[in-house]
Amino acid sequence: MNKPVKLTEHQRLVFDALEQAKSPQSAYALLDAVSDQGIKAPVQIYRALDKLVAAGMVHKVESLNAFIACHDRHERHWAAFTICEACGAVGEVVLTDPEALEALGSDVEGFEVHSAQVELRGLCAACSAAAAS
Ligand SMILES: [Zn+2]
Ligand SMILES: [Zn+2]
Repeated sequence: MNKPVKLTEHQRLVFDALEQAKSPQSAYALLDAVSDQGIKAPVQIYRALDKLVAAGMVHKVESLNAFIACHDRHERHWAAFTICEACGAVGEVVLTDPEALEALGSDVEGFEVHSAQVELRGLCAACSAAAAS
């Protein structure tokens, strides 16, 4: 894992908290997690998250308004997620063909695509096993 991004103390704390959580966290949940380590204000969390998202180390899961540490190499990329409708578990999947998404936008005359996020909703393995039993 290469680390091209030099993180500030706050960014490192927020990223570590997200990696340990292994599930999407709201900014306020993150604030709770790091509040005993010197981060007291939501704006400090948002500033750190902005930088981490820009660096591609963290994704915002738009529909959940929550943040998750990138499970892939730490390289800026378009993200896709599986979201379990029963337990809320979120998995990151690698978009093998991001150009196909970009092409969707290019079909609209004059439209320039800047970002995209794919959210696949359904049941995770554990929940579909539980539903079947
Ligand atoms: Zn990612
Ligand atoms: Zn589930």
